Parts: sequence; structure tokens; C-alpha cells
Amino acid sequence: MHPLAEKRKPGRDYVRLDVTRLASGAELRLGLHVVTGAKAGPTLGILATVHGDETMGLMAVRRLLQELDVKTLSGRVAAIPVANPLAVSVFNRQTPEQHGKTDLHEVFPGHPEGNLTQRMASVITTHLLDHVHALVDIHCGGLGGRLQSRADLDAAASADVFEGSLKLCRAFNTTFVHANNLAGTAARYCNARGVPTANPEIGGVYLGPQAEAAYIEEAVAGLRSIMAAIGMIAAAPLPPKKQLLFKVASRYEVNPSVGGFLQSHFTAPSDLGRRVEKGTKLGEIVDLHSLEVTEELRASVTGYLFFSRYSGTVDAGTKAFALAEEATSTWL
Ligand SMILES: [Zn+2]
Repeated sequence: MHPLAEKRKPGRDYVRLDVTRLASGAELRLGLHVVTGAKAGPTLGILATVHGDETMGLMAVRRLLQELDVKTLSGRVAAIPVANPLAVSVFNRQTPEQHGKTDLHEVFPGHPEGNLTQRMASVITTHLLDHVHALVDIHCGGLGGRLQSRADLDAAASADVFEGSLKLCRAFNTTFVHANNLAGTAARYCNARGVPTANPEIGGVYLGPQAEAAYIEEAVAGLRSIMAAIGMIAAAPLPPKKQLLFKVASRYEVNPSVGGFLQSHFTAPSDLGRRVEKGTKLGEIVDLHSLEVTEELRASVTGYLFFSRYSGTVDAGTKAFALAEEATSTWL
């Protein structure tokens, strides 16, 4: 029985969805929370930890669920805090399994007879995605200390769905909105069914207590604002702020071409959203063995910094910094 397919009394439910039995003998299950409000309204789906090293969002989901008042809630919130438990358990982005297609963010709607990643996607699809009127899939900077503050929507969505998704992203209220290519994601699957989506990329892991607390606060406020925007709680959405909308073609990453220690010059949450002139030094790479600076990372365009990495060991191609080009992005 799908927990969302039946009408439930107002209140809180927690069920565990069976996926399969693992070689270790452990049962692979996904936890699903359903908070059913006393009033009629839409079903908001929430996914967190689709990438196993992006665990900040699930603490925001916990706070959101705890603070909901069933008596005044219109509709339902259905949340899977850990979408990929196997990836979380090894604090890695993808599922540790032998077969291909191990990134849960690329395999939706999944397959009930596929590999572990595809099976988890299939369970999420049939038990959550097929029952929601809006979806939020929360991501953040993962392993290796990256700061994020944006909400993504799928550039390939139909005009109506794009508008609906933009409304959710605007309500979430991050500085940036990224019209991204979300092929294979839960968002694209939902969009094809006419369901709008927002994929926040907010905060990161091991950022230190102050930054982490601030980002969790911001994520909870953003989620509540989305709920307000679609009429689920009797509150006003956050006052719309100036947001920069940019497409994939306006996205300029600046990544190292050699491995080493990245000395980052942009490590404060307030650095995100900063206007950076072309040529500005963002950081440098120190070779771990010769201890010499081997590369300087400089802004390739004039634009706004939308992610940045803390200082630490990186390899060639590690995502370090990204700019939304000023000339081709749009202020909303
Ligand atoms: Zn992610």
C-alpha cells in the first residue's frame, strides 16, 4: 500500500519503505514522514540527501516537520530525509555498488529490477513522486567544503511548469536561481507530470557551527516560504528579494587543472553573491610535494560568485568556484 495513496487522519506518520535485502543481510529501507493537516490542500514532497555527502538539508527538514502545526496545516508534507542511505553511510555522493548508474540524481524514475540506485529511485517514484503537487529536492555543498546558495529549476520544463517552478524557487529566496539541466532527476520526472519543483543548493557540510546554523535557518525559512506560497500555511512568503536568474550557458566554473592544496580567497557565506571582475584571483593551488604554487585560479568572466570552496586538498577538475556571468544573467 502506498502511504500517500490513502486518505489519513490529521497527524504524523512515519513508515519505512522496503527496497531490498542487502548482501550484508541488512534490509534496505527508506524512511517516509507524512504530516497530514486538518485542512485540505496540496501535497508537498521533500527529498533530502539524494547525494550522500549533502547531509545539511535533512536537519532543516527535521526542524520544518517539528515546527508544523497539524491543526493549521492545509494539505500534506511528505518527506524522505535520506533518499540514498547507502551513500550517506559512507559519506559519499554516490551509491557504493559495482554496477554503473550509481548517482541517484541521474536515474529517475529508476527501475524496480535495476541496480540498488535504480531500485531506490523506483521506490521514491512510486511512493512519493507520483503523489505530490510540488517537490523540493534539497542539496548542498558536500564532501570537501563547498558553499552554495541557490535554487535550481529545470530549463527543459514546459513554459507552465517552468513558471510554477520559478515561483517555488523565488519563494525559497536564495540570491541565485539557476535554470539548470536536470536530466535524470526527480525534478525532471515530476515536471513531466506537470508538477513544479525547486532544487535548492544551500549551505554545505562541516562549515563550522555559525555558518551551518545560519544556513539551516535559511533553509527552514525557505521551505516555510514555499509552503506559504502554495497556500499550505497561513503565513506570507518571504518578501521577494532581488535574485539573479542564470542559465547553463552563463555558468562559468573555475576549477584546478592540477591537484594540490587550494588556498581559497572566498570562504565566507557573504562571499556568495559578490560581484567579481574578470581576472580576480579566487585562489591558488600549492603542490603538496614541492610546496610551490603551481596554479592561480582567476575569474574567467565578470559575474557573481554562486559557489566557492573552502581551502583544502583538491584534485584536477574538483569543482572550486563558479560565476554567473553578469552580461548574460537576468535580475528578477
Ligand atoms: Zn547534490
